[in-house]
Amino acid sequence: MKLLNRKQIENLSKFKDHHLLTTSFYLDTDKSRLSKKEINVSSKNLLRQAKSRLEHMDLNKEQRESLTKDLDKIKKFSSRSLPSYNFSGLAVFSCHHKNFWQELNLPEPPRNRTVFDQNPYLRPLSALIEEYKKICTLVFDRREAKWYKIFAGDITLLETMEEDVPSKVKEGGWEGYESKRIERHIATHLREYFKNIAKKTFRLFKKNSYEWLILGAQEEYSSEFDPLLHPYLKDRLQGWLHLKPNDSPNKVLQNSLELEKQLLKKEEKKLTHHFISELKRDELAVSGLKETLKSLNRGELQTLFVMRNYSSPGRTCPHCQLLFVDEAVCPSCGEKTEPLVDVIDEAIEAAWDKSSQVKQMGSPSELDQYGKIGGLLRYKAR
Ligand SMILES: [Zn+2]
Repeated sequence: MKLLNRKQIENLSKFKDHHLLTTSFYLDTDKSRLSKKEINVSSKNLLRQAKSRLEHMDLNKEQRESLTKDLDKIKKFSSRSLPSYNFSGLAVFSCHHKNFWQELNLPEPPRNRTVFDQNPYLRPLSALIEEYKKICTLVFDRREAKWYKIFAGDITLLETMEEDVPSKVKEGGWEGYESKRIERHIATHLREYFKNIAKKTFRLFKKNSYEWLILGAQEEYSSEFDPLLHPYLKDRLQGWLHLKPNDSPNKVLQNSLELEKQLLKKEEKKLTHHFISELKRDELAVSGLKETLKSLNRGELQTLFVMRNYSSPGRTCPHCQLLFVDEAVCPSCGEKTEPLVDVIDEAIEAAWDKSSQVKQMGSPSELDQYGKIGGLLRYKAR
């Protein structure tokens, strides 16, 4: 099943067993960056690590059995489906003794991770859904208009409108005054039709709170159509695409996604530049693991930036949950710290807890040269 909306996440969150634990498995399956072999290897490693973690957990027989079965089942599922798998990420939730099993195809790569907990571990899913823009793509010509909803890589036809405005006066027909009169008539007809399209678009936006508007039409309509758009829509208009109403929904989807990707990349670049310039001015930014964890512990981070594949061991205080690179004793409470296999996972989790934004960057990114991790600060400490 594809991850398409918040409702699916809510449904998953309702699953809970008071006695048994649930396995959540996340795998990066992005074939634009990874080979089939690499994906396969990381899946196997992930499951092997999970199994060895299981051996050291304090569990009763039934709990252990159920979790072991989960891992076996996920292993079987992976080796069967990964070779022909075509999504950027995979999430599996399983609680064997309760017959609970759910797979989700993800449109973006998650961080590789296996979690055993009372509930399905859903944070990465909510973060992913939040990153998506709610898009309305309107495709029109003189005959027809179609409104599509696009979200998380999926498209739905919302409404259609048919009108059929003739394109021009027939050649060799009327001459002079009569032909001009008809032309004027057609122009008015087209304008009325465009006005109706603009009105309907505004109504749809008010009703569904879309974030972005994309228009698909011939460019010649732009000068006529643009002024008819409500300022609210003009603010949300992201661009014009060369599309026709009889183009397939898949073509509309692919073109819109391509534009979304370009715009998001641009946004990401802008944010990275802002981060780097703050760093250089020694103002509202930190970089490198040590400094970033320090700011995170203090709750100063507005945005946490991290390279998607970066992981590093670290330590945590069992008492106040602060995160460190190598402190043996918690400077805050004096408790002995405990080792963490991956402090980055915990840092992302802690950032979400403190309502900081988390931006995971794919390479290449300028962040690579700044310690692979950093953040924008809410305010300047000290
Ligand atoms: Zn402490």
